[in-house]
Amino acid sequence: MSFTSLGLSAPILKAVANKGYETPSPIQAQAIPAVLEGKDVMAAAQTGTGKTAGFTLPLLELLSKGERARAKQVRALVLTPTRELAAQIAESVTTYGKYLPLRSAVVFGGVGIGPQISQINRGVDILVATPGRLLDLYNQRAVSFSQLEVLVLDEADRMLDMGFIHDIKKILAVLPAKRQNLMFSATFSDEIRTLAKGLVNNPVEISVTPRNTTANTVEQLICPVDKTQKSAALVQLIKQHDWQQVLVFSRTKHGANRLAKSLDAKGITAAAIHGNKSQGARTKALANFKSGEVRVLVATDIAARGLDIDQLPQVVNFDLPNVPEDYVHRIGRTGRAGAAGKAISLVSSEESKLLADIERLIGKTLPRTEVAGFESTHKLPETDLTPKRHGQNRGPRNAKPNASRPARNSGGHNRNDDKPQGNRDGQSKRRSGSADKPSTESQSHNKSPYQGKSEHRDGNAPSRRRTRRPSAAQPAK
Ligand code: AMP
Repeated sequence: MSFTSLGLSAPILKAVANKGYETPSPIQAQAIPAVLEGKDVMAAAQTGTGKTAGFTLPLLELLSKGERARAKQVRALVLTPTRELAAQIAESVTTYGKYLPLRSAVVFGGVGIGPQISQINRGVDILVATPGRLLDLYNQRAVSFSQLEVLVLDEADRMLDMGFIHDIKKILAVLPAKRQNLMFSATFSDEIRTLAKGLVNNPVEISVTPRNTTANTVEQLICPVDKTQKSAALVQLIKQHDWQQVLVFSRTKHGANRLAKSLDAKGITAAAIHGNKSQGARTKALANFKSGEVRVLVATDIAARGLDIDQLPQVVNFDLPNVPEDYVHRIGRTGRAGAAGKAISLVSSEESKLLADIERLIGKTLPRTEVAGFESTHKLPETDLTPKRHGQNRGPRNAKPNASRPARNSGGHNRNDDKPQGNRDGQSKRRSGSADKPSTESQSHNKSPYQGKSEHRDGNAPSRRRTRRPSAAQPAK
């Protein structure tokens, strides 16, 4: 199949050809015709599948036909959970729409609102936004939706994880009822299905990746390492393989800072990217990483969401994520769009239960190898993948009880090295990181039990309930 058969016009095909894309990815092949037909779409697709072009290309096509956006009006709204993802999508809109006379803009928090107001004032055909800043703009009457034709909800699962459900509901309430809706989510939990019910009408359902499976272009490896040896083992791996560009995941912001500093001290250029960094610092770190000036980018989960680095060859999990689905997202940073990639996880015995959860989620055990000179002194138990009856212990065989790990659905947190954060009492589901929230909510949020501790809250602390199961990760029927 080629892009020409999908119903896209010459200016868009030219922009696609400029990017060097030859064939549409599976999600593009399915989503583009459906969107062009004006249908609602509900797609289970992870990042790395080409989903951005999957909705951006037909959006541009549709919008190139109708009446242009009037002052303060938006014709298509793309909602995304993080600033990085918003910036990334906006870049794609600009790239794919460069031969069309359409106006687009991107709005997110952490930067001045003034220029955003002036941009929207002229009217924008496509607005990419994070929910908090969009509500701020709406409350200031800087934006109006009466001309809105299409709504795209991207990474809906992550939106809910980050506690954006109320913001999304507020936004939905002010949009015209008659509109086309496109919803993308890597996973489909019950919460997502509920959200979808009130959002999409008779949608075309698309599922391009078997749910919660890892891209098979990514070679995955577990390296059992003692916790105290991880930093030195990482240095050895970087040197031994001569990795020139490696994205390293850290569970916490402080961990990310510490690691970046220690790598730098060993002569390996590194930068950290997380929710405590200013937008400017994050943009700079990413640009330096992309240009090769910085060899290692240490990121928390939230900050890494939306990073699209072409041909990223290597991902390292310095810590395993608390939420197994995040593992799938993390390693999806490499092996993108069919390119080969490698993901290595440094796993200490304290993380055996996290590893077991991941291996159960992806339905396979991962190969293991020791890092020479850093062989672990504590045994990492093998995961038993055989299904257990309800109520039975789901931990790995021989695993010691992991005191630092909360029980499922407890709403608690595993904070191995940082301060407790978020949602202990279930009051706030919002995660910080690069997420935005409207200023009014920020104020009420500051009155939360976490007042005064917010600088310790990490953008990637899982504040969601751990209710997802692989079986729930399918588009709603
Ligand atoms: P996404 O899943 O939208 O984040 O896209 C992942 C990566 O795939 C991006 O780097 C895109 O530039 C690239 N990409 C998207 N569509 C195609 C295509 N049809 N052929 C090759 N690369 C693509």
